[in-house]
Amino acid sequence: MPELPEVEVTAEHLRREIMGATLSHWSASGKSLRHPFPKAKVESLIGQSIIAIRRRAKFLLLEFPNDWLIIHLGMSGIVVCCDPKTPARLHDHVRFDFSCPDGRMQAMVFHDPRRFGSVQWFKKYPQLPWQSIGQLLGRSASGLEPFDPLFNGDYLFQQSRLSRGGRVSIKQWLMAGHVVVGVGNIYACEALFRAGIHPARQAKAISRARLQTLADAIRDILQRAIHAGGSTIRDFHSPDGEAGRYGQSHRVYGHQGETCSACQAVIRRMTQNARSTFYCPRCQR
Ligand SMILES: [Zn+2]
Repeated sequence: MPELPEVEVTAEHLRREIMGATLSHWSASGKSLRHPFPKAKVESLIGQSIIAIRRRAKFLLLEFPNDWLIIHLGMSGIVVCCDPKTPARLHDHVRFDFSCPDGRMQAMVFHDPRRFGSVQWFKKYPQLPWQSIGQLLGRSASGLEPFDPLFNGDYLFQQSRLSRGGRVSIKQWLMAGHVVVGVGNIYACEALFRAGIHPARQAKAISRARLQTLADAIRDILQRAIHAGGSTIRDFHSPDGEAGRYGQSHRVYGHQGETCSACQAVIRRMTQNARSTFYCPRCQR
C-alpha cells in the first residue's frame, strides 16, 4: 500500500517529467474509482498549465492557476509518466496528455488494479495557504506534516494533553492523521520501537522528552524510506513495482517470533484497531 514516502517519490517523479506542462487531452476507462472522476472539470483544464506539484499527507496535488487536481493512490495505485504512444494497459484508469515547456509530449497515467484510489477536483482558494487543502481532504490529511518544523515533542505533548483523543493508544493516535499525517502502520511500528515506546500506551501518558524522541524517529524513518523509494521508482512500470524494498531496514515490522536486534527478547505481534502491531516487549515501555 502506497505510504507517504511512495507518494513523495511520485511527486518528485512528476516534478521532473511534467512541471509547467499544459494539459492537451485526457481519457478515462469509465470504471468506478473511490470518487467519481470529474470529467467536466478536467475538460475545463485543457489548455491550462501545472504551476506546482505538491504532496499533502498521502495526496498528490497538481496545482493549476485556479484549480487542484488531487490524486490518491488508494491501496494499489501508481502514477507514472510515459511516452504518449505507449499503449494502454489493463487497470490504466485515467490518462492525461501534456505538452511540456521543452516541447516534449508526455502522458501521465493513473493505474490502479484495486480501484481504491481516486482523481478529484477542487477549486483553489487563493486567500488560504495551500496546506489548508488538507482540511478538505478529510481527517487523515488534516494534521501537521512530519517534515514541518513545528512537528516536534512540544507539539505532540500539547496535542496529547489537549485532545480527548490522547486517551487512545499512541499508535492509533499517530495513525489517525489529525495530529501528524502520513504515519502508516509500518512507520508507526518502527518509530515506536526506535523511541522505546510501547504501542498500547496512552498518548497522554507519555513524557515530553519521549515524544521528542518519537518525533525525531518518525522524521528519520520517513526520510530514509523516501531515499529508499528513490530506488523502487525504477520498477515503476511493472504492476508489482510498489512492493516495498524497505523490508531489510525494518527492526520489528514483520519480525514476530524473531529476536530483537537490540535486546534479544522475542518480537511480538498484536492487533490494534484491526491492524497488526509488532513490538519488542522489553525495549518498548
Ligand atoms: Zn528489544
